[in-house]
Amino acid sequence: LTPPSTARPPPTTVSYPSLQPIKPSKALNDKISLYRGDITTLAVDAIVNAANTSLLGGGGVDGAIHRAAGPQLYQECKTLGGCATGGAKITDAYRLPCKKVIHAVGPVYNVIDPGVSEEDLTSCYATALELAIDNSCRSIAFSAISTGVYGYPSREAAPVAITAVKRFLESDMGTNLDLVVFVVFEKKDLDAYHKYLPVYLPPV
Ligand code: ADP
Repeated sequence: LTPPSTARPPPTTVSYPSLQPIKPSKALNDKISLYRGDITTLAVDAIVNAANTSLLGGGGVDGAIHRAAGPQLYQECKTLGGCATGGAKITDAYRLPCKKVIHAVGPVYNVIDPGVSEEDLTSCYATALELAIDNSCRSIAFSAISTGVYGYPSREAAPVAITAVKRFLESDMGTNLDLVVFVVFEKKDLDAYHKYLPVYLPPV
């Protein structure tokens, strides 16, 4: 007779967020800020739109940006030929107070395989930041990509966004950026950034 097994099943792997101890960094903290309000009012070099693959406008922040920028933005977007999920393309800003609009296409949240969504969301942030640098933008404001109708839980999206920005600012290219603003509109996103910014960028 074999004795009843006392072995426990292996713990469920928590794939995200993996919180690792991070050294406080004054340099990084000085470059990152959190703003609650309408992204279309910000006079930064570039704002990042949460667009869809058509790049032809939509609801949410996309609609707000197109309304505020005026019809010329739509005309330029029509020439871009769309954009794949995880990618981003840049346009002029027309009537907006910023200089450029970066249209990033976030993932529709994949409940079955959140890892795929995480890769795509990370790619959005990284691509948008590279585009900003390539276009001599030194300040950039991100909308909370995918956390609206695309259903990405805010408490999962915020660590992905913060990690991607932190990684970029720590890279050689990051020295070309002075300011990254996380723009939140709803309380759930505000709460998520309040929770995770001090974890990834501890106050010094
Ligand atoms: P997605 O389809 O990528 O989820 P949404 O536009 O539905 O895009 O939502 C993205 C985020 O933009 C949400 O967190 C939403 O609250 C926020 N948002 C909506 N309007 C604005 C605005 N005018 N300025 C900044 N953020 C906004």
